Amino acid sequence: RARSLGQTQYQVFATGMLEANVQRFALEGELRQGLANQQFELYYQPIVSLKSDRIAGFEALIRWQHPQRGFISPGMFVPLAEETGLIIPLGKWICETACQQAYVWKQQFPDWPLLISINLSGRQFEQPDLVEQLAAIMHDRQLYGLTFKLEVTESMVMGDVEAAIDLMFKLRSLGCKLSLDDFGTGYSSLSYLRRFPIDTLKVDQSFVRNMHSAEDFAIVRTIVDLAHTLGMDVIAEGVETLEDVAALRSLGAEYGQGYYWAKPLAAAAATEFLAQSFQ
Ligand code: C2E
Ligand code: MG
Ligand code: MG
Ligand code: MG
Repeated sequence: RARSLGQTQYQVFATGMLEANVQRFALEGELRQGLANQQFELYYQPIVSLKSDRIAGFEALIRWQHPQRGFISPGMFVPLAEETGLIIPLGKWICETACQQAYVWKQQFPDWPLLISINLSGRQFEQPDLVEQLAAIMHDRQLYGLTFKLEVTESMVMGDVEAAIDLMFKLRSLGCKLSLDDFGTGYSSLSYLRRFPIDTLKVDQSFVRNMHSAEDFAIVRTIVDLAHTLGMDVIAEGVETLEDVAALRSLGAEYGQGYYWAKPLAAAAATEFLAQSFQ
């Protein structure tokens, strides 16, 4: 009896695995095609100053419009692109596209101090010529420095710490700023954090979402205080309600990002959002 039960479970497991592998394999090929056929698009989500209520910048977030499957979330394909190495050409495209958009906005809104945040992936961060690549892209568009903020995660910088510090200083010398994304969800050593040339801690949305609970409120307060102690500022992610905004203001957080202001927007809609904010 136990044996037959075991077999049944094994079969269910095997079928599930096979399906998952077939799907993965299909998706990998489609990812490759998608890149060649320009099925990707960058969306831009406003980051808002809690002090002035002005747009401080945008975070670029990738979107995939698959011709048959429709919208596929980055949470689904970015890890696959990472595993297969496709993130390298995709990451380059992301940087080029964000730079191109920054260039357009700089022409349109010359007085606006642009700050465009770009998510880097682990593989990109380990690429030996990342700095040269970014420098070339910025140079092409005469955007040398000033404009970009690169988002890294704890897992990317807490491995080979010395190499990460070295790389971060090089990125900073291009004029880029650095954010630590999803802060609080990974593993961070405070003694290393102190040595990182990071400008901004992004408080993960899982804490921001639950700030009505005393524990999560205390966690957000602790992260804000930690950032300020280390000379960093704070962006709270996943801000959805006026109550979130009030709570974050009371804690002295500098910036917020979330559906309360806007979802990630296509470039044209983001431009519209920006134009409105200047009226
Ligand atoms: P992330 O960098 O932490 O991006 C923030 C995510 O939170 C985005 O999801 C955004 O749409 C979502 N978000 C923002 N405000 C709210 C809110 O108020 N409520 C809720 N529920 N969600 C909110 P998205 O665009 O699906 O991206 C998911 C993750 O995929 C990103 O997390 C990032 O890790 C990765 N990703 C997205 N675009 C890129 C990219 O261009 N390059 C790389 N390497 N990774 C990317
Ligand atoms: Mg991010
Ligand atoms: Mg995040
Ligand atoms: Mg994330």
